[in-house]
Amino acid sequence: MTKLKPHFLSANDHEMLVDYHVHSNYNDDAQGTVEECIQASLAKGLTSIAITNHVWKTTKWIANFINEARYLRTKYKCNLLIGSEAKIINMNGEVDIPSQYLEDIELLMGALHHLPTNDDYVWLRSESLSSSKVAEVVRDATLNLISRNEVNVVAHPLALYYQKHATSFPVEFLEDIVKAASMEKIALEVHNSKHPLPKEVFRRLIHLCVRYEVPMCIGSDAHSPSEIGNLNYATIQRTIDSASRGKADDQ
Ligand SMILES: [Zn+2]
Ligand SMILES: [Zn+2]
Repeated sequence: MTKLKPHFLSANDHEMLVDYHVHSNYNDDAQGTVEECIQASLAKGLTSIAITNHVWKTTKWIANFINEARYLRTKYKCNLLIGSEAKIINMNGEVDIPSQYLEDIELLMGALHHLPTNDDYVWLRSESLSSSKVAEVVRDATLNLISRNEVNVVAHPLALYYQKHATSFPVEFLEDIVKAASMEKIALEVHNSKHPLPKEVFRRLIHLCVRYEVPMCIGSDAHSPSEIGNLNYATIQRTIDSASRGKADDQ
């Protein structure tokens, strides 16, 4: 079975019109069939999308989704990537997906939705922790996720931190994450429309990705077909271009 490869962004790559974070109605909190998602992406002129439904180790429909996606991408002759968004379940960076599907998933995102502990599915309460402790847990869990090298994208890497904390995520921690992603050749989701980063952090993250040659992933995190492609492609492009010029000036 042919596997499609994600088209991540880099300093020299200007093929921007992708949306690599889309949920379909395989998820209870999302609307739109896989076919409706494809139709919406084609109507918007996107060159490629990934459907990245939330999954759990207990999820039973993954094989159906894979078959449906393969059938529909042949029917529509489109670049639909078979994806999943799997949550980190413990401090070791293990993700919540049945391991037999790891081979078939073309774009596997690992995501922090809760602050993990050493025990599976036991979470820390963010309210009782200082922002520096939360930043540390986010960094360490993300580094462990990256070093396992099971996923090919870290979804919204700082979303969990910025949901609750206004102080800036430590720059050196961000650099640690980018360097690790560079070593393992894992992409970072530098823009997620549901979890936009503060402007300065967004810019810094892209600059670090360009400096360390980390592939960049962007997505709307659409939960309905009408949200697919809701990204400010021009701003993302401009920021990558400016980071690339900065890098050229440094050399
Ligand atoms: Zn998420
Ligand atoms: Zn998502």
